[in-house]
Formats: sequence, structure tokens, C-alpha cells
Amino acid sequence: MADQRRKPRGTRGQKAILLRSSTFDEYVERVRSFHGFAAPGVVIGGFMVDLAYRHLPKEGLFDAICETPKCLPDAVQLLTPCTIGNGWLTIVDTGRYALCLYDKSSGRGVRVAVDPKRLDPWPEIKSWFLKLIPKKEQDSELLMGEIKAAGGSLCAVRRVRVLRAPKGQARQFAICPSCRESYPLGHGPLCLGCQGAAPYGAPEKA
Ligand code: ZN
Repeated sequence: MADQRRKPRGTRGQKAILLRSSTFDEYVERVRSFHGFAAPGVVIGGFMVDLAYRHLPKEGLFDAICETPKCLPDAVQLLTPCTIGNGWLTIVDTGRYALCLYDKSSGRGVRVAVDPKRLDPWPEIKSWFLKLIPKKEQDSELLMGEIKAAGGSLCAVRRVRVLRAPKGQARQFAICPSCRESYPLGHGPLCLGCQGAAPYGAPEKA
């Protein structure tokens, strides 16, 4: 397959946009392939991750927190070593469009959040982000153009200290007397699935 990557174009005399080491177009392509489509939230998330790294020491490994399960975790998974599965990315759902990268040993890090005050110069981003107009009335090309032009300027950055959760004891596992599957004993006498958390109805024939 031919290498279709183009040289990064300078936009209006500015330096080429880089999200970590990807150009904007390369990053959007990566979003498409990982997330299924070029979701505006994942694209903004790329600028947010990049901005966080710019405020952190060059060396070092950082854990991540996303304050929403929507879109943002995929930007973190694309541009950092942190994934949900490896445990370095945690979602603490406050519903805010914010992420934090931090040093696990000290808890010190940087929080980056979309700041509604900074959306005024970008009407398409503002109406999309604050859901002011129905999705079908959005102009996705215009929206993406605004996101590319606005980049990290949409975000507020502040230093934070993550309060470390106390270390739990090694989890003991048990066999649930109801479903006969293994589960962490700390969840109670039955697994959480059998306590009502399972999202399935009555068993069906396989
Ligand atoms: Zn069970």
C-alpha cells in the first residue's frame, strides 16, 4: 500500500499542528480507525492530551484520569501508553470534559478541561459542545475546521494533586453460590451479577 501520508502543511503561516508526534490529519485518521469515526470529542481530546504533556516533565511515565467515559478515553488510549485494560487509565465520571495526567508516585499532575468561557470565538464548537442545536443541524466540516484552528486554546490547564486511593489488600476470589462463576469476595456473599448488576434478562436457550 502506498504511503499516503503527506508532509504536514503549515496553516496560514503557523507551525504545523502536532498532536504528540502525529500531524492533525494523521491523528484524525487514527481516530477514525480506532473509534469508528472522526468524533469531534476524540479530536479535541487529542489536543487536550498534547497540552497536558506540554505541562509535564519530558521524562517520566504518567497515569491518566478521564472525568467522562465519552470520547475522551479514546484520545488518551491513542496518544499515551495508558489504557483502561492496563489500569493506567481510570475513569472518574464527574461528567466534565476533563482529563488529568499525573505521576503515580507523587500524585502530582496536570488537569486539562474544556473551558466554556473560551468557546465564544468558535460558534460551531460551542453549539456542538453545549448541545445547543440538534445533531443533524451541525456542520461537521465547519466544526472540524474550528477544532483544528482552536486546538488547545479551548482548554484550561491547572496543576493538581491526585489523592491516591488507599491500597487494597490482594483481592480474594470466591465462587458465587448462585451462578458458580468466580468473583471478588469483597463484593459480598453473591457476585454483583447475581445481586442485580447483570444487564441480562432471564436465561435463554443457547
Ligand atoms: Zn453469581
